[in-house]
Amino acid sequence: MIHMKEVYKKYPNGVVAVNGISVDIKQGEFVYVVGPSGAGKSTFIKLMYREEVPTSGEVIINGVNTSKLKRKEVPHFRRQLGIVFQDFKLLPKLTVYENVAFAMEVIEEHPKVIRKRVMEVLELVGLKHKVRMFPSELSGGEQQRVSIARSIVNMPKVVIADEPTGNLDPENSWEIMRIFEEINTMGTTVVMATHNREIVNQIRKRVIAIEGGMIVRDVFGGEYGYEI
Ligand code: ADP
Repeated sequence: MIHMKEVYKKYPNGVVAVNGISVDIKQGEFVYVVGPSGAGKSTFIKLMYREEVPTSGEVIINGVNTSKLKRKEVPHFRRQLGIVFQDFKLLPKLTVYENVAFAMEVIEEHPKVIRKRVMEVLELVGLKHKVRMFPSELSGGEQQRVSIARSIVNMPKVVIADEPTGNLDPENSWEIMRIFEEINTMGTTVVMATHNREIVNQIRKRVIAIEGGMIVRDVFGGEYGYEI
């Protein structure tokens, strides 16, 4: 599913953000990626959705070696993943419905299939009643729920989230976690970088801790484990 072997990532400015990571994440796992700021978590996550390619080593996602992808193949590759960001990245001029439908329109799904599936995922995230609203009319938690609906609308095998609760209050963060858990229960792999200690300690999952670009801890059902 997700396979990294001896991965190094050195940025053009000379910073080695990932310094020899080997890891396997199986289909259906739920994984938190934790660690201090600057540890390399985002780079680790970006290597998974081919925002970055390794300087050396291998990153294989769903059987695809990301270093071997041609530039024009990247959008197709990414569409097989669900990606959720801290800042939602919704299209401001599109409604809730259109933001989610857009992800299916680009793969030219049949309009009837789109309608059914979009309503299905919006129901899953509890926003069926707000389909005609625009992102600016929603709370942060609601916007993140739209972006999660968009990320899963094409039924990806993996959802990758970088600090998805970073801009949310505790109540909304728990709601987002309930949705991720539900997605995971349906068989989707979830990989989530987070600073949210309460969530990691209460909803126990595999914890991969990164420091200085290396995995320093990898525990199933682990704790957040940092005092700061
Ligand atoms: P984290 O997500 O844990 O905060 P990052 O992966 O963002 O860590 O960053 C790891 C290191 O790589 C940091 O020293 C950061 O400054 C550096 N870095 C991140 N992105 C870039 C980039 N595009 N160019 C150069 N250095 C970067």
